[in-house]
Amino acid sequence: MLPDRLERLIELLSRLPGVGEKTAQRFAMFFVTESQEYARELGLALQELGATVKRCQRCGNIAQVGEDGRALCPVCLDPRRDGKLLCIVARVQDLLAIEKSASMRGRYFVLGRLLSPLDGVGPDELPLEDLFRIVAEDAVKEVILATPPSVDGEATALLLARELAGKGLQVSRIASGVPHGGDLEFADQITLGRAIDGRRSMDGKRS
Ligand SMILES: [Zn+2]
Repeated sequence: MLPDRLERLIELLSRLPGVGEKTAQRFAMFFVTESQEYARELGLALQELGATVKRCQRCGNIAQVGEDGRALCPVCLDPRRDGKLLCIVARVQDLLAIEKSASMRGRYFVLGRLLSPLDGVGPDELPLEDLFRIVAEDAVKEVILATPPSVDGEATALLLARELAGKGLQVSRIASGVPHGGDLEFADQITLGRAIDGRRSMDGKRS
């Protein structure tokens, strides 16, 4: 029924989080029938985004590509940050939520994914080599595990605690207060600040 290019656009849009096939179709029709100028601007913005905004090559946060071609985020570029303190999060959104709570004076590492035995995601799929490299480069002393309080988040925290405590690091886990199964992103700033201040030590042994 629809031109190939339009079908393709609908397929691409339907992959966006929270967008189903119907909404994707509505968006696509909007571009075609209401505002081709808007569609051009959006296309350009997306194209430029790919060239100028990348994942931070050190921590995985969002970063603007510098004139030297390096992608380092504002946190990694900030010399006032304590490089000895590293906060490990699952997603960039969690990093942003913690930054908003202004309770973190160290730097971050974004895992990008969590252990999920049920979905077949094992330790080999986590960026542990990159993490250990950062820990060594920055001579990190303390690690705060701020993975979400879900089953996968806890399993990941346990694995990381074992690995990092084995390297002689002080490891702690953010305190409860963030609802179980909840996303850090949706916790309010005060709760998140308290969860970080009230972190518990993890010795890395399975309890
Ligand atoms: Zn960074």
